[in-house]
Amino acid sequence: MTTVDGPWRSGAFAAVADSGVLAGFIPQECGGTGLTEAETTALLVSIAERCLTTALVLTQWAAAVRIIASSPDPGKHELLPPLARGESPTTVGISHLTTSRRHLGRPALVATRSGDGWSLDGECPWVTGADAASSIVTGAATEGGGQAFFVVPTTSAGLTIAPPLKLLALAGSRTSPVTFRGVRPAHVLGSPPDGGPRTGGLSTTALAVGAARASAAVIASEAAARPGLTTVAREFAAEIEALESRVLLAARDGIDPAARDRLRVDATSLVLRTAQASLTAAKGAGFVAGHPAERLVRESLFFLVWSCPQAVADAVLCDLAGV
Ligand SMILES: Cc1cc2nc3c(=O)[nH]c(=O)nc-3n(C[C@H](O)[C@H](O)[C@H](O)COP(=O)(O)OP(=O)(O)OC[C@H]3O[C@@H](n4cnc5c(N)ncnc54)[C@H](O)[C@@H]3O)c2cc1C
Repeated sequence: MTTVDGPWRSGAFAAVADSGVLAGFIPQECGGTGLTEAETTALLVSIAERCLTTALVLTQWAAAVRIIASSPDPGKHELLPPLARGESPTTVGISHLTTSRRHLGRPALVATRSGDGWSLDGECPWVTGADAASSIVTGAATEGGGQAFFVVPTTSAGLTIAPPLKLLALAGSRTSPVTFRGVRPAHVLGSPPDGGPRTGGLSTTALAVGAARASAAVIASEAAARPGLTTVAREFAAEIEALESRVLLAARDGIDPAARDRLRVDATSLVLRTAQASLTAAKGAGFVAGHPAERLVRESLFFLVWSCPQAVADAVLCDLAGV
């Protein structure tokens, strides 16, 4: 079910909510249980190992929640407790502020003052789970070159969700473009004090580590019957463990932007290599649709494009070109 209908309809998202994990992403003063970043990062690794689609959906939900929680808007105290209980799923559409359509030189989504509120016009090119969510947290360019963030119910007049894009993998993420024509947001979150959304953060790296773990499990299971694969299985397991330790340490102690990008580059390389090694180990059987290796290879390619800052994309391209 998760492969097409997504974790909302398959029950995977409800299972995450029932386990109490969602509340961990929300600070205690806003109705959550306020897990540390190291704890949420470890959780994302283990969820991604089991289902990358569910981990992606959770990451986008957490990004929306983080923007709401860091807002000066007192309305966040009403918004966050139901989100902590897993009610009214939310998602995020902010890539146009960081990585998407930046070369076009004009904002994809514009917010203008209208009466005593705001009006949104334009497009969010990528919104995971748009047709499964009750609201979208988005950011738009304002007059004077600023940015403001908003919570927009998906039932708002003037908001149109396109059918989910046909993707190479992660179809269950139900990722769609969303257009806005004079949409009045339900909540104005203002500008986040920390300078707005980041790309290539530790949670994206955590998902790559979890996905690499899933591929390593395929290699390990093949190695159980084929001693020739033992060394490869052992080497990948050690590399994954070392990278996971670096990610968890960074989540605990903090990390500067250049080192954070380096971690994401290393994780991207690892997830691609482990996936291809799992396919090599599984041989032709792994190339047949439905085999875990076939899915893992497709899913590993996601990390080449998702939340990938230019510095990370440049380093990955140099690695691929052998420069
Ligand atoms: C499955 C999936 C789910 C996602 N979910 C979300 C989500 O929930 N929320 C969210 O905010 N984001 C999401 N994203 C967006 C993601 O994080 C990136 O922002 C996105 O992948 C960037 O790709 P783009 O095609 O929009 O980039 P663009 O930069 O817009 O590139 C598009 C095209 O423009 C051309 N181009 C690019 N740069 C230049 C240039 N400098 N000069 C000339 N031409 C150029 C190229 O031909 C390129 O193919 C998701 C992405 C994927 C793949």
